[in-house]
Amino acid sequence: MEEHDVIIIGAGHNGLTAGVELARAGHSVLVLEKTNWPGGQAATKELFKGFKHSVGAWALLVFREEMIKYLEIDKEGFELIRPSSSFTVFGDPEDTPFIGYTDPIDLANHLLEDHGEDAMEAFSELGRYFSYFKEMFEKYIDETPPTLEEIIAAAPDEKTREILASLSYGSAIEVMRKFFKEPGKHGCILGSLSASAIDGTHMGPFTKGSALSLSYHYCAGDTYDFKIPKGGIGTLSSSLEKVFKRYGGEVQYKAQVENFIIEDGKVTGVKLRNGDELRAKAVISTLDAQSTFLRLCDTQALPTDFVSSVEDIEYTNGYIQLHLTMKSLPTFANQLEFVNGTEKSWLVAYIQSPEQLHGCWKQYQAGEVPDNPAVYCYFPSQLDSSLAPEGFHTCTIFSHYFPADIPKGQHNEMKELMVKRVLDRMETVVPNFRELIMDQVVFTQEYFEKTFGTTGGDFAQGLLHPGQMFGDRPVPGWANYETPLENLFMAGGGCHPGPGVTCIPGLNGARVVMGKIGAASKSETSQVA
Ligand SMILES: Cc1cc2nc3c(=O)[nH]c(=O)nc-3n(C[C@H](O)[C@H](O)[C@H](O)COP(=O)(O)OP(=O)(O)OC[C@H]3O[C@@H](n4cnc5c(N)ncnc54)[C@H](O)[C@@H]3O)c2cc1C
Repeated sequence: MEEHDVIIIGAGHNGLTAGVELARAGHSVLVLEKTNWPGGQAATKELFKGFKHSVGAWALLVFREEMIKYLEIDKEGFELIRPSSSFTVFGDPEDTPFIGYTDPIDLANHLLEDHGEDAMEAFSELGRYFSYFKEMFEKYIDETPPTLEEIIAAAPDEKTREILASLSYGSAIEVMRKFFKEPGKHGCILGSLSASAIDGTHMGPFTKGSALSLSYHYCAGDTYDFKIPKGGIGTLSSSLEKVFKRYGGEVQYKAQVENFIIEDGKVTGVKLRNGDELRAKAVISTLDAQSTFLRLCDTQALPTDFVSSVEDIEYTNGYIQLHLTMKSLPTFANQLEFVNGTEKSWLVAYIQSPEQLHGCWKQYQAGEVPDNPAVYCYFPSQLDSSLAPEGFHTCTIFSHYFPADIPKGQHNEMKELMVKRVLDRMETVVPNFRELIMDQVVFTQEYFEKTFGTTGGDFAQGLLHPGQMFGDRPVPGWANYETPLENLFMAGGGCHPGPGVTCIPGLNGARVVMGKIGAASKSETSQVA
């Protein structure tokens, strides 16, 4: 039986971040990973020979750049690519596309010149409105937060309370309509915002509470400043793994944890699927709460109220991710002709309006494939030539609202229908899109559930809903990275502040563990530079 200071379950980016923080402080740390690669839901894989695709996450959004130096991944060659625009959203041919310029001046000029003064003013007022949430989010980012109700109640004045309440409990449309008052106008701008609102939720943009995900995404920056790791998203975790190992950390792949070993109410280690038992002073789970407590744990060892709260977490999240290899980059036609030969073509998204997404949401709720799905289509190799052989390209397409409740035996059929509709939509702006495709593979939430054990395939590991954020994440009263079981901690995207490739839950969780288990037992603390 082995003894470590800390065992971390999961070599996703949060598990490896926690590993770096603990190993650097001198603790002996073992990371156990079910698959045989690092990165979890943010990995880069050679799905087709010579082509690399980011499977799962692909852009850094709510990510603080100071993490790069802090986690020393710059020393392992980790680099970011900063495109001048994050997306070009298009809708109907007569609608002006919305370009998500990352430079605020470029964005303001685009809004003023292409969408009109009303759009520019509305967008900047909306930005000021969101800044209340952003300030609050940043205040609690590194600590155990109170609940949203407590945060709002403690706000300094009535105006702040009202704004925070509408950004937390209102619908995305209510918030947008405060500034973009005229229905039917600025479809691409509002469609783009609405797509952020529904991301990581089981909601439409008109659903009460959808403003919360929109506000969370806004914390990424006024223009959703997409940052792309050079070499694909997986380089974040492979770099973290190198730093971790440099500090003496160990990673075991194909090591699936079957259950916790619980003795006298304390977690003393884990049992692997192959029967091995490993002991540690502390165990950190980076899995979502239902996976952690309902699958790896004997629920008899937990308080019944806690188990009920875990059972009630909402994870329903439906989507498809389609990875393609391309003979060449496309030539865009019609309303997107202007992106040809510019960086604006690296990510185009068909998001017509909030009403379009509302229609998709209604069909999704009824278990149907949306007739008119929204489509994000990006060409990572356009920004990063290391991802594809010379002359060829990679393409990934993401679309929300692939039904979650599919009658047995119909999954493949519905997947094909969704892919058909998504590609049909792309052909409205690239008439020969299908002819450019060489290979394709389609993943839905089912793939992510089976591969990474993520409940419901929910990439948010607990949806971005009111009642599941701040002091209620993962469940009310346990936003402190601790659990009712002594020596068991949490540090994945299911924890505060939330999902996405941020490294924050991993870092916060590791610090809590260090506070609990005390100084490192190894003598050569932090000697490796
Ligand atoms: C399609 C898709 C698109 C996304 N797009 C973005 C994006 O662009 N930007 C962004 O910021 N976020 C995005 N996300 C979300 C992001 O990927 C996740 O929030 C993030 O990767 C979570 O990291 P984590 O380390 O907390 O957990 P995970 O990445 O889920 O890591 C957990 C690890 O634990 C392992 N594991 C599970 N069970 C066991 C077990 N029993 N024993 C041992 N190991 C186990 C899993 O294999 C996995 O490697 C996306 C996700 C998906 C699926």
